Amino acid sequence: MAKDTSIERIDCAAYTIPTDAPESDGTLEWDRTTLIVVEVEAGGKTGLGYTYCHSAVVPIVARTLAPEIHGHEAFAIEQTWAAMVRIVRNIGWPGVAACAISAVDIALWDLKAKLLDVPLVTLLGPLRRRVPVYGSGGFTSYTNEKLADQLSGWAHEGCAFVKMKVGREPEKDPRRAEAARNAIGGAQLFVDANGGYSRKQALALAHTFSDLGVTWFEEPVSSDDLEGLHLIRDRAPAGMDVAAGEYGYQTFYFRRMLETAAVDVLQADETRCGGVTGFMRAAAICDAHGIPLSSHCGPAIHLHAACAAPRLRHMEWFHDHVRLEHMLFDGAPNLRDGHIEPDLSRPGHGLAFRHADAERFRIQP
Ligand SMILES: [Mg+2]
Repeated sequence: MAKDTSIERIDCAAYTIPTDAPESDGTLEWDRTTLIVVEVEAGGKTGLGYTYCHSAVVPIVARTLAPEIHGHEAFAIEQTWAAMVRIVRNIGWPGVAACAISAVDIALWDLKAKLLDVPLVTLLGPLRRRVPVYGSGGFTSYTNEKLADQLSGWAHEGCAFVKMKVGREPEKDPRRAEAARNAIGGAQLFVDANGGYSRKQALALAHTFSDLGVTWFEEPVSSDDLEGLHLIRDRAPAGMDVAAGEYGYQTFYFRRMLETAAVDVLQADETRCGGVTGFMRAAAICDAHGIPLSSHCGPAIHLHAACAAPRLRHMEWFHDHVRLEHMLFDGAPNLRDGHIEPDLSRPGHGLAFRHADAERFRIQP
C-alpha cells in the first residue's frame, strides 16, 4: 500500500527580532523585523516555510488556510495553492493573505522534496549551480562613513554589485552616492529610492547617478506608477536598469508590470508572491517577455528556486535578513566569492529553524 502523505499538521508562529540599529529608506523607518514561520507535516516529514510580514499572518494560516488544506495530498501543491487562493477571496488575496499563502507554499515544496529525499533545486530542475548576489543595505539612517564601510565590505567579499537606499533627503543623495562610489572599487553601484522621488526628480537624479556610475535605479517612483516607471526607464541614460516588483503578490501584477514596459529587470519576492509556486510563475512571465528576474530579500529562502528560475540575474543579499537568517536557521548560506550556493547534501531547501534560539523573540499575534 502506498504511504499516506496527506497533510496532518499545519503550525504557525510569529517572532519579532530587533534590527542591529534603527534603519530607514526613502519612505519608511523601522527598528525590528517580524518573521512568521510555518511548518507542515505529512508522511512523517515536516516542511518549513516563512515570510517577513505582520503577525496578522498567523490567524490567517491557523484559522483560514489550515482548515481548508488539512488532509490534502502533500504532493498536490498546485491543487492546495488554488484552494488557498480561493478561500481568501473575500478577505483579499494581495497583502497579508498572500504572505500567508507564500509561507505555506514554501513549506509544502520543502516537504515534497523531503518526502522524495532530494534537495529542492533537484526537484525544481537546476539551471545553475550558484547565484551571484548583490550586497544590500546602505540605509538612509547611516552616516556616509558607515555607508561606505558596509558597501566596501561586501565589495571586498567579492560582490560585483552593492545597493544603497536613497530618496529620503534627495538633496543629500548625490553626495551619499559619491561616498559609496569612492569606497567600492570596481563593484557596480545600485540605488533604491523605494518610491521616494517624483517623476521629474527621479529623471534628473538618473543623470546625476549615472555620472557616478550607478547601473541600477530601483523604484525611482512608486511601483504603482507604471507610467512613471516607464518614463524613467525610457529616458534614463544607457547602462542604467530600472527595477521594481517587490510588492507583487499575484501573477497578474507581474504581467501588468511587464506589459507596460515599466522595468528593465523584474523583482519578485517568494515570501510575498505565492511561495515557490508564485516565484516560478514570475520567472515564466519574465521568460515570456525576455526580461531578467532578480529575487527580493530573504536570500536563504530563495536560493533553491533561484538556481532553477529562467533568466535569473542575481539575488539580494539584504543586511537585515542575512543577519536574521544566520541567527535563526541552520543551513543559511554563506557568501563565497560574491555568490551563494545550495548545500546539496541536505534534502528540501536545507534550512532548519532553531526553535530554542527563537523562543525569546516569539510574540502573541
Ligand atoms: Mg527595494
